[in-house]
Amino acid sequence: MTPFTFQASLPRVVFGPGTLQQLPAEVERLGAAKALVLSTPEQQDQAQRVAELLGARSAGVFARAVMHVPIETAREAREEARRLGADCAVAIGGGSTTGLGKAIALDSGLPIIAVPTTYAGSEMTPIYGITEGGLKKTGRDARVLPRTVIYDPRLTLSLPVDLSVTSGLNAIAHAAEGLYAHDGNPILSLMAEEGIRALAQALPALHRDPCDLQARSDALYGAWLCGVVLGNGAMGLHHKLCHTLGGSFNLPHAEVHTVVLPHAMAYNAPKAPQAMAAIARALRVDDAPLGLQQLAAELGAPTALKAIGMPADGLDRVADLAVSAPYPNPRPLERTALRALLQRAWDGSAPA
Ligand code: NAD
Repeated sequence: MTPFTFQASLPRVVFGPGTLQQLPAEVERLGAAKALVLSTPEQQDQAQRVAELLGARSAGVFARAVMHVPIETAREAREEARRLGADCAVAIGGGSTTGLGKAIALDSGLPIIAVPTTYAGSEMTPIYGITEGGLKKTGRDARVLPRTVIYDPRLTLSLPVDLSVTSGLNAIAHAAEGLYAHDGNPILSLMAEEGIRALAQALPALHRDPCDLQARSDALYGAWLCGVVLGNGAMGLHHKLCHTLGGSFNLPHAEVHTVVLPHAMAYNAPKAPQAMAAIARALRVDDAPLGLQQLAAELGAPTALKAIGMPADGLDRVADLAVSAPYPNPRPLERTALRALLQRAWDGSAPA
């Protein structure tokens, strides 16, 4: 057993089909009286239903969350929370909506209840991101970690199948990198392997039948575990590459993770044999990077950066950025090898 440090800071979790009904009691449990309900414009109806469920405990709905939390939207939401006298916020949606809740909490200390409807995992992390002048600034702050998370799998039934698949693979990426994180520990590794196992089992089932509530529950359970890993272990090459690709080329978040992960894993595999063995066990395959890419392909997910809008002439810049600010990663960052990785990811070749 290698030496380790373990300290977890986690939200209260209420998990299960129908648990959204417990939201009013959870607001009360926080000692709050008026919750501002946050969502994207696409999920406004869902947010409205949440406000109705809250009744007198609803301060109103702010349905303007968008990807990457623009500072202007964060300011508007903060102002709306102040104007309506909200003393807590309920974020119903994916990482974009949770991110808006975090931006409010960062400024005001308002407690957040997250009701995740994708598998992105932001609700389990103290990591926030705010975009100003085209640049996304990320940071860690204990104030932004939601106090309570309600995981109600029924709310994920409406998540389109393609987004369900890529969002699930996005979650697997957190666990995969957690397994070789320099600050990892045995508990995180257990959670990571179990999270990958649960998602790898659930995704094909919900791909066959998006209304399979058992598969939806298993996927959300896996997403929770993977989210804990994301919040408590340092992410490496894969997340850095995706951050650069997503931020600089405005590529869709979950799809980028889906395409890049097998390649980033193959890059790190020689220096992270135990992590690869755990991932292969969880996926029930012999070769973790290849098995993951095949799973994505079988589920109809994109496997090439060129298919999701990445310009070929941007790959050199991504390779430059990937080596510009060093960070812990199992295998040292070598520009030539990274450029080759990016080319394979762009082409959609097998990971090597
Ligand atoms: P998203 O939140 O942008 O959602 C994508 C779309 O799906 C939105 O239109 C949303 O309204 C819709 N949607 C979500 N759930 C739905 C449902 N159940 N039914 C129907 N439609 C639904 O996507 P995401 O992948 O969850 O989040 C991506 C963002 O989250 C990125 O900006 C990423 O950087 C951030 N993120 C942050 C962290 C963190 O720890 N800070 C972690 C993961 C992701």
